[in-house]
Amino acid sequence: MNFSKSAAAMERARDVLVGGVNSPVRAFKGVGGHPIVMARAQGAYLFDIDGNQLIDFVGSWGPMIVGHAHPKVVDAVTQRAQLGTSFGAPNLLETELAEEVRRAFPSMEKVRFVSSGTEATMAALRLARAHTGRQFIVKAAGCYHGHSDALLVKAGSGVATLGLPDSPGVPTELAKLTLTVPFNDADALRKTLEAHPGAIAAFIVEPVVGNMGLVPPSDGYLAQVREICHAHGTLLILDEVMTGFRVAYGGAQQRYGVKADITTLGKIIGGGLPVGAYGASKTLMANIAPEGATYQAGTLSGNPLAMAAGLATLELLREPGVYEKLEQTGAQLEEGLMGLARRHSVDLCVQRVGSMVTAFFHKGPIRNEEDAMKSDRPRFGRFFHGMLQRGVYLPPSQLEAAFFSLAHSVKDVEATLKAAEESFKL
Ligand SMILES: *Cc1c(COP(=O)(O)O)cnc(C)c1O
Repeated sequence: MNFSKSAAAMERARDVLVGGVNSPVRAFKGVGGHPIVMARAQGAYLFDIDGNQLIDFVGSWGPMIVGHAHPKVVDAVTQRAQLGTSFGAPNLLETELAEEVRRAFPSMEKVRFVSSGTEATMAALRLARAHTGRQFIVKAAGCYHGHSDALLVKAGSGVATLGLPDSPGVPTELAKLTLTVPFNDADALRKTLEAHPGAIAAFIVEPVVGNMGLVPPSDGYLAQVREICHAHGTLLILDEVMTGFRVAYGGAQQRYGVKADITTLGKIIGGGLPVGAYGASKTLMANIAPEGATYQAGTLSGNPLAMAAGLATLELLREPGVYEKLEQTGAQLEEGLMGLARRHSVDLCVQRVGSMVTAFFHKGPIRNEEDAMKSDRPRFGRFFHGMLQRGVYLPPSQLEAAFFSLAHSVKDVEATLKAAEESFKL
């Protein structure tokens, strides 16, 4: 494979765009080398500007569950575009998509659309604080909830201590209001809530983590977390930006039989266009303007093109057998990778929930961020470039989940496994 046009394009881009990219996960910092510049995408494939065809396991970081440029999604968007791209006034599609979201997530009795996952979690925190009159929030270490100040916070020393900024520019005073506990550790959450009685507005968590590589919740964790929150008057925010319509149509809440107080969505509900959403009971949502005094707004919120892309995507996901097919593709990939790893004596742990998967270069299972940091990241870097050279595009970081779609065929997985067998030797 030749990536010389990408190399030249990135050199030009780096002069005017920070690091040549508009989101740092697209840079190849974790694996070395330069990003690949894409020209177009179709089904399971990306086509770069050098003309290479790549099997895509990034899926735009989650949204592309029906495959790229699905004709029904493209039709929906192009037809809507003829009718005007934004009104700054209500349109019918907002209500339609909100009703569909509520059918899938019964805990979201009312919905507010925004334009990104970051906005959704930011607003969810504001709502939780407004409703409870409390200031503190708790997050799980290694979970990513977008780049807002309150959520770019890392753990201080010790479980019940105050948070520290995880980025320059995040005010120390604000970071102190965010406490951090390990994922999959209900006891740590209980202790933190007990240490700050009546002070914690919400616990926000990815119910299945995709942002430290794929880490599933341990048995009963989500139910325990809900119970602990409720015992302390703390709201449970399930950040389903990644898992919503991904691990099941009704997200992790359907798959694991749990209920959030506030849910955040994004990615799939926009079908590849910029959308986020948050929702909760009617009582909770009555805090939000214009019904209530808690302010939150957006010029392009409920954008008709984005609503149309989301509706078309969800319609495709309601066809029978869709999640079963994703499960089959996932099983083929997972079993194939584990078989190859055994045959070639590679310390590999494949963790998968539905169509989200990570192959950790690590011997045992990964349960939290601390475990994830122990995986062999230099080896992942070699594996990543080996796969890229063989036409497989993985997330350029050991600590990001891979996604596949309905467009990925048995043959695509076979080609991926063949590339993996060769790349394990690097
Ligand atoms: C991607 C993601 C976000 C942020 O969404 P953006 O649209 O990138 O702002 C928030 N939470 C989770 C769980 C995510 O995966």
